[in-house]
Amino acid sequence: MKRISHWIDGRVTAGQSGRVGPVYNPATGEQTAEVDFASAAEVDAAIESATGAATSWRDSSLSRRAEILFGFRELLNQRRDEVARVLTAEQGKVRTDAIGEVQRGIENVEFACGVPHLLKGEFSEQASRGIDVYSIRQPVGVVAGITPFNFPALVPMWMFANALACGNCFVLKPSEKDPSSSLLLAEMWREAGLPDGVFTVVQGDREAVQRLLEHPGIGAVSFVGSTPVARYIYETGTKHGKRVQALAGAKNHMVVLPDADLEMAADAAVSAGYGSSGERCMAISVVVAVGRIGDDLVDAIARRIPLIRVGPGDDPESEMGPLVTAQHRDRVASYLNEAALGGARVVVDGRLGTPTQGFFVKPSLVDWARPGSPVYDDEIFGPVLTVVRAETYDEALQLVNSNPWGNGVALFTRDGGMARRFQLEVLAGTVGINVPIPVPVAFYSFGGWKASLFGDASMYGPDGIRFYTRSKVVTSRWPDPSTSRVDLGFPQTR
Ligand code: NAD
Repeated sequence: MKRISHWIDGRVTAGQSGRVGPVYNPATGEQTAEVDFASAAEVDAAIESATGAATSWRDSSLSRRAEILFGFRELLNQRRDEVARVLTAEQGKVRTDAIGEVQRGIENVEFACGVPHLLKGEFSEQASRGIDVYSIRQPVGVVAGITPFNFPALVPMWMFANALACGNCFVLKPSEKDPSSSLLLAEMWREAGLPDGVFTVVQGDREAVQRLLEHPGIGAVSFVGSTPVARYIYETGTKHGKRVQALAGAKNHMVVLPDADLEMAADAAVSAGYGSSGERCMAISVVVAVGRIGDDLVDAIARRIPLIRVGPGDDPESEMGPLVTAQHRDRVASYLNEAALGGARVVVDGRLGTPTQGFFVKPSLVDWARPGSPVYDDEIFGPVLTVVRAETYDEALQLVNSNPWGNGVALFTRDGGMARRFQLEVLAGTVGINVPIPVPVAFYSFGGWKASLFGDASMYGPDGIRFYTRSKVVTSRWPDPSTSRVDLGFPQTR
């Protein structure tokens, strides 16, 4: 059985804890590998290696760091297909989706290549007589990233591109469900010239995470995953004196106003609801059909569903692949049971006609859902699209704003005035106007509101640079000795 291990000190390091977890091919259901689970002592060893590399990496020049980042970008470009194949094999997503994931990661690396510009500070000459004041941004030190199964390559790149560019050493704890791409990325860093110890991977489960949260050598923790774990990571990490950003779960609504282009809205709902089998934190899971458009919209979505080609991710014909594990498949399918529906109506049942092997649920559509039922209230994280009917714009807005999550939201309309009003009034961190999955490009930052983000820093883009650096303000005087005198008064600026 293939063994997936840690990456410490610039090389693959076999685990010693005796604890391992299974890795599956979701398209066949077969176990393909086992992954080491790090013990607290192994996490300590990884952090020690990173700490050993921290000073010289912090002292490396900005141009050297940019050069290594450019090299890493080139390697990612060259090996894009290879990374995508690994994503498909362990996560299950279809090939085009996997390539798209790598491409978005490359864009985060490209942003970080601009680090010499991004780290420029401020300078105020003559802030007081003979005194200059300037601000600089310095790395935090050794930082950790804990990442989810759904974007095994992209989410780490959201984090480590900026973290490393800013002069930090980075310890990654990937999802134990699809750990292999982390090692491919580590190899590429080595090939790009990153010194040993600057990028580290510890595989594992909650035991490894717990140690990362408690270890005094870790200065900041970035987390992306489900809401209960994000809350725990935030509370535990900050209790141990760390900076924490924890991006969490979602229930993203797409509000369709009566004047919207019906066919375009249906295309968008299907693409954003079922793309990546709904395993995207920015997937649309609720369509709010406003007023008279409801019945036609549900029909238009239902007409499209049988055309979606569901199959193994490595089949070029497949448009939607399996879910990540058997447990997740069963959990997703359970939302189509009577008890979870709370009176809602199943229009298309994706439990029917699934391939006999693998962890598949086909696209499912539920209409007339209401708050208070699990199918509406829970994050399903699968291909179950739920339609809620609303009489008016105000009712739709109230529904979105009273939802505990606020990751992303979309509005479909042809009315610019309504779009502007929505943008002003809606409580969510990312808003799409006729765009169903408004994940910001790499030069903006990404983060939700409410229970979708714990901490005050969003991820990547300018917030990423701020998160991975500490600001220092220097007040300096190079006096003319002839002006020197004793002065016990309060420092004057005028
Ligand atoms: P998860 O919370 O189960 O796991 C995320 C990470 O936390 C993994 O590395 C896992 O090993 C670790 N972990 C799990 N349970 C833990 C525990 N009890 N203690 C300590 N560590 C623990 O999430 P997942 O199932 O891998 O990913 C899906 C979730 O991630 C969804 O809720 C999705 O919305 C969310 N997500 C959010 C965003 C965003 O940007 N907001 C992006 C991607 C995914």
